[in-house]
Amino acid sequence: MSFIKTIGITKRYDNGEPPALEDVNLEIKKGEIFCIMGHSGAGKTTLLRILALLEKPDSGEYYFDGVKVSWNDNLRKHITMVFQIPVMFNTTVFKNIAYGLKIRGYSKEEIKKKVEEVLELVRLQGYENRRAKYLSGGEKQRVAIARAIVLEPKLLLMDEPTANLDPTNSAIIEEIVKEIVKEKETTILFSTHNLFQAKRLAHRVAHIYKGKIIEIGKTKEVFERP
Ligand code: ADP
Ligand code: ADP
Repeated sequence: MSFIKTIGITKRYDNGEPPALEDVNLEIKKGEIFCIMGHSGAGKTTLLRILALLEKPDSGEYYFDGVKVSWNDNLRKHITMVFQIPVMFNTTVFKNIAYGLKIRGYSKEEIKKKVEEVLELVRLQGYENRRAKYLSGGEKQRVAIARAIVLEPKLLLMDEPTANLDPTNSAIIEEIVKEIVKEKETTILFSTHNLFQAKRLAHRVAHIYKGKIIEIGKTKEVFERP
């Protein structure tokens, strides 16, 4: 059974324009790193926002771990998303990461333990009391990843997480992604327009073009096709 399955997802923002997504059929396995590749405007963000339950498609079905999604239920707690441009709360790194845990009612001790564990994972040990908005772009993105992963989602969605970062910071984030999948029971779906990144990270890839999936398969096979 697929962990994520979509059938015929279609989304139109404006009736005059071609649809942002058209008949998207996707299957993702548990524990997989799956990449959506495509140019700017291809529909990557729209697809990720729908899978994150932040947006509703016009038609189509979405099954999450065998459960049919209705876009208004409590499956949301199993899904977190990292955006292309990280938005930091104007407070410390600790509180930025602890926020969601606090809402979920974890104790102070549990929060401290979990935050410290994820800070290590994103290589920001000792950053607890730094003000998040003064960090570098790469550090902010790592805080955003920590904030998403600390909630132990079953599905982590990352929308072009390294699009605004230099190669060094991109490489760190790629390492973190691999570690998350190895250490946590998390399935990761990320988007990129960087084919090299897709090739380095993903087990399987889909190529989206003008809202349609035009190619899908194991990374190795897709990149070796003539
Ligand atoms: P990508 O993430 O691959 O750059 P998007 O999903 O952002 O692609 O966009 C897909 C298409 O949908 C584009 O044509 C874009 O202009 C359009 N689009 C995206 N968001 C909106 C919106 N909120 N309102 C109208 N059109 C949108
Ligand atoms: P608020 O006043 O908004 O409720 P607090 O200052 O009480 O926020 O912080 C929220 C929780 O996070 C508290 O349990 C606090 O002890 C803990 N906390 C805040 N910063 C740190 C830190 N740097 N290291 C460990 N725990 C922290």
